[in-house]
Amino acid sequence: MPPSALVIDDDVDIQLLGKMLLSRHGFDVATAGCLGELARQPGLLNTHLIVLDFGLGDFTGLDILDYLYDLKILAPILLLSSCSDETAAHAIAEGKAKGLKMLGFLPKAKLMTGLGDFIEQIEASPKPPSVGELAQAIKQQHICLALQPKLSLATGIVVGAEALVRWEDPTRGTIYPDSFIPLAEKSGLMVPLTWCILELAFAQLADWHARGLPLSIAVNVPAAFIKAENMLSMFDTLCGKYPIDMTKVTLELTESVGVECLGYARHILDELRKRGCKLALDDFGTGYSSLTQLYRLPFDELKLDRSFVSFIDSEPNAQAITLSIVELGARLGMSVVAEGIENAEQQTLLTKAKCPVGQGYFISRPLAPTQFEKWLGHQTMVA
Ligand code: C2E
Ligand code: MG
Ligand code: MG
Repeated sequence: MPPSALVIDDDVDIQLLGKMLLSRHGFDVATAGCLGELARQPGLLNTHLIVLDFGLGDFTGLDILDYLYDLKILAPILLLSSCSDETAAHAIAEGKAKGLKMLGFLPKAKLMTGLGDFIEQIEASPKPPSVGELAQAIKQQHICLALQPKLSLATGIVVGAEALVRWEDPTRGTIYPDSFIPLAEKSGLMVPLTWCILELAFAQLADWHARGLPLSIAVNVPAAFIKAENMLSMFDTLCGKYPIDMTKVTLELTESVGVECLGYARHILDELRKRGCKLALDDFGTGYSSLTQLYRLPFDELKLDRSFVSFIDSEPNAQAITLSIVELGARLGMSVVAEGIENAEQQTLLTKAKCPVGQGYFISRPLAPTQFEKWLGHQTMVA
């Protein structure tokens, strides 16, 4: 497959020029006039290179980098602009600090002559991870957790954290789940990867409990794990290794668990609940047959997907759906966790609606365990 590039500029001439130059270098090029295209066409997020007008449309400066970070852009980003070199250097440094792959800065007037140098840099950059490398990373313990706090909205007290996987590669740096979970799913590595994450989470919980911190931990668990051979006996062995209160463990499942293995899943999930684990239905509202899953499988918690939460402060329909789901959770005796709270207004609306728990960048981004400890030092916790 040829590498792909996306040129985003509100000037159609720049779009066409960029397209022509990149096509000459063998890129399959798409163009867009605004950043919103990235959210509207998720396929574009997998582009190999993004050439972007800095200071586009409503974006006045560094907020463009926040937008790209939130979309978890993995491709190198080349900024095009007519701003000063100083402003551009500042933007590049800020982007890098956020973990974005900032390729550099090219004044628009030099697009014709300067693009080639940047393309050489991309060609020399590391290739995407392979199955073999992921298998090695699991063996060599390069798999780590990022912890994202969960807050009781009524009291502001930290109740626990979601454990999110990160791959710390010695050469590539931090690799995010979107770039290797699909690889793990295709290659059968999802089960060993989940054991690795679960063990890290149990060790973290044991450490908190030993220090008297009454926190809970949530781990994402795929259908393949639930269906894996000897899953329950291996789970019991792992529980035996760590002195933890199992009622503080939440397993987050997506709707595919119910769809892929209904009868058998029910038995396994019942067994896990007998051991004290709580079960959460992740990304609620995004897949199909969500409501069917709710009464077929024994969930304790609903995680309201951020696609609703993101718009509760701007779109009345998103607000109505969100409030109804919070009420539905209460009626079903389930806790509801609102994911993806990004501003004070969203948090206030959810608190007023009596949504029990919130999670999102406004509270905190996912943090490495040491940073999480520091963050925790400034928070209120259950005694
Ligand atoms: P998820 O389980 O729904 O996790 C929440 C994702 O939303 C996380 O991305 C988190 O960083 C992001 N997020 C949290 N708050 C906000 C916010 O306010 N705004 C925005 N824009 N995003 C927010 P992450 O860590 O990249 O994980 C993405 C997905 O990858 C997860 O979605 C989950 O489906 C999968 N994943 C992550 N860790 C694991 C894991 O350990 N095992 C498995 N099986 N899947 C995992
Ligand atoms: Mg989750
Ligand atoms: Mg989720």
